[in-house]
Order: sequence, then structure tokens, then C-alpha cells
Amino acid sequence: MLESILDTVGHTPLVLLGRMTEGLQAKVAVKVEFTNPGGSVKDRVAMAMIAEAELRGALRPGGTIIEATAGNTGVGLAMVAAVKGYRCIFVLPDKMSTEKISLLKAYGAEVVVTPTAVAPDSPESYNGVADRLAREIPGAWRPNQFTNEANPESHYRTTGPEIWEQTRGKVTVFVAGVGTGGTISGVGKYLKEMNPHIKIVGADPEGSVLSGGTPKPWKVEGIGEDFVPKTFSSKYVDDWVRVGDTESFQVARELARREGMLLGGSSGTNVAAALRYARRLGPGQLVVALGCDTGRNYLSKFFDDGWLIANKLTFTEVPAHSVGDLL
Ligand code: PMP
Repeated sequence: MLESILDTVGHTPLVLLGRMTEGLQAKVAVKVEFTNPGGSVKDRVAMAMIAEAELRGALRPGGTIIEATAGNTGVGLAMVAAVKGYRCIFVLPDKMSTEKISLLKAYGAEVVVTPTAVAPDSPESYNGVADRLAREIPGAWRPNQFTNEANPESHYRTTGPEIWEQTRGKVTVFVAGVGTGGTISGVGKYLKEMNPHIKIVGADPEGSVLSGGTPKPWKVEGIGEDFVPKTFSSKYVDDWVRVGDTESFQVARELARREGMLLGGSSGTNVAAALRYARRLGPGQLVVALGCDTGRNYLSKFFDDGWLIANKLTFTEVPAHSVGDLL
């Protein structure tokens, strides 16, 4: 029996792809982070940032966590706050989906919605409001995952060693996208220390500046940036693979239909990059791609055919089932 739900964070499975790697000589495996209780890799980061703030005395009993995020980090923070009795306030722009707001509220968090149509540095912007609340509320603490070293550190301590142990040191390539860069920097640092020949590959949406592309909007959530985050160490990245929205969503849907893995769009980007990279590799190579979050977050988005059509992202779907001998 476990002390709390937090004891189930991490130790996620590493699962080989089967049908999607037919014809490839290299093996491709996915680190499936949806088995974390909050449904994403960010549970690890939320736990680590809160533990570090408690240790420093920045977050004390009865304290309030204030962050400007509606994403997976928010869910992780709200879950940890629920277990530890902290108040949690999220400040979000009004374009966020109602599902995301409901999810945070379900964990007991408070949500403040701010207008999207203001300048990013305005006091009315979601960051401006989060800053003001942090100043006004006694005992308030802002985790800021984009500058918090506990973020990459959590992957150096947990995700990296898990991949090394689960592959018995046989991993040859690791593929992940960059949001804050915490995952790729922490895992990259650990794996390179264990074996400097391991290749670390960044999977970047077309339009993100991280891989040196021309900036333009993209639809995959959680990865790609228009700035270089402090938590990202580019020195660990050997190669970049750039993936468009269509390919990312196509691969994410194929993962559900042909591998039974219901993952999000950024996992689609990572696996698409891993498959493309693996095509150039021979036998004995083992590519590990990060499966960042559950696809349940996106049922009304790229898993919905109408949404794909509305966003001009149509493609021919790979048949889900094999054609039998009798046909
Ligand atoms: N995928 C999703 C769905 C995410 O929410 C995030 C975090 N922004 C990432 C990938 C990227 O992870 P990291 O912040 O560690 O670079």
C-alpha cells in the first residue's frame, strides 16, 4: 500500500513499437508517461519543483502556488497541492479550452481568466495578473517551470536513469521535443554521462525557432518555442528533426489505432521524428521516444475528424486492422 498518489509518479513503462516499425532494422520504443497519475510527464516536474521550494522555505504550510499555465504542469501542480494542502491559483488567457479549466478546478485549484487581447507585458495579461497575485497574497510562490532548475534536474534524477535501466544501457538514440527543454536537457545530460555516444535528437514543430526554422504558428501543443528557455541546454542536442502538424497528428492517431497507445500530439511529433531517424539506422540500434501525455486531452482536437478538416490538416489514415488472408 502506498502513502499517497504521489508515490505513483514516475517509473513509467518503456514499450516497443510493433506494427509501426515493420520493415525497420532499428528498434523504436516509447517512454509512456500517461501512466503518471496526472496523465503526463509533468507530474515529475511539479513534484520536484514543489519539493525544492519546500526545502528552500519558499513554500511553507498554508502557502499558495500561483502559475500562469493551463497545461500539464498545471495539472501536476494542482495534484501535488491537493495532497499537501496548498492553495493553487492558475491564471489563464481566455482562449483556453473549458476542458482544461474544468480539469484544474476538479483538483480544487482556483482559476482566474484574463483577456487574450492585451499586450504580453501588460498588467492585465495572464503573466501580469499572476505577478500581481504573487505580490499581494502572503505566502505565495511562483514555480516558473521555464527558469526553475528543479525542472531539468527532475529528469536527470528520474526519467534518464529509468531509460538507462529499462534498456540495460542499450539505448542508442533519445528523441524528445522541447517546451521548457527540461526533459531533453535532463535526460540528455544523464544519458551522455552514462555513454557519450548516445545521440540526443530534438523533435521540433515546423515554425519553432529552436531548430533554426522560420517562425510561423503551429498546432501541436506543449513543444516548440519562439524563444530559447533558460531550462533548455542546447549542448546536449546532437541533431534536430523538424516535423509538421499533419505528420505529428497522423502519427499520434496511428499510435492509437495500430499500437493501442492513446498519446498527445507532441508524442506524435517525437515518434514521427524517431521513425524518420530510425530509417537510417541498422540492427542493434534502439531509439527511445518520449510519449509526453495522454491523448484524452485531445479528443475534441486532432482525434476529431471535424477538427482536422476545420484546421486544413487532412491526410489518408493508415488502416487500423490488418487485411486477413481470406480477403
Ligand atoms: N509535450 C507536452 C504535451 C507538454 O505539455 C510539454 C511541456 N510543455 C512537453 C511536451 C515538453 O516538455 P519539456 O517542457 O520538458 O521540454
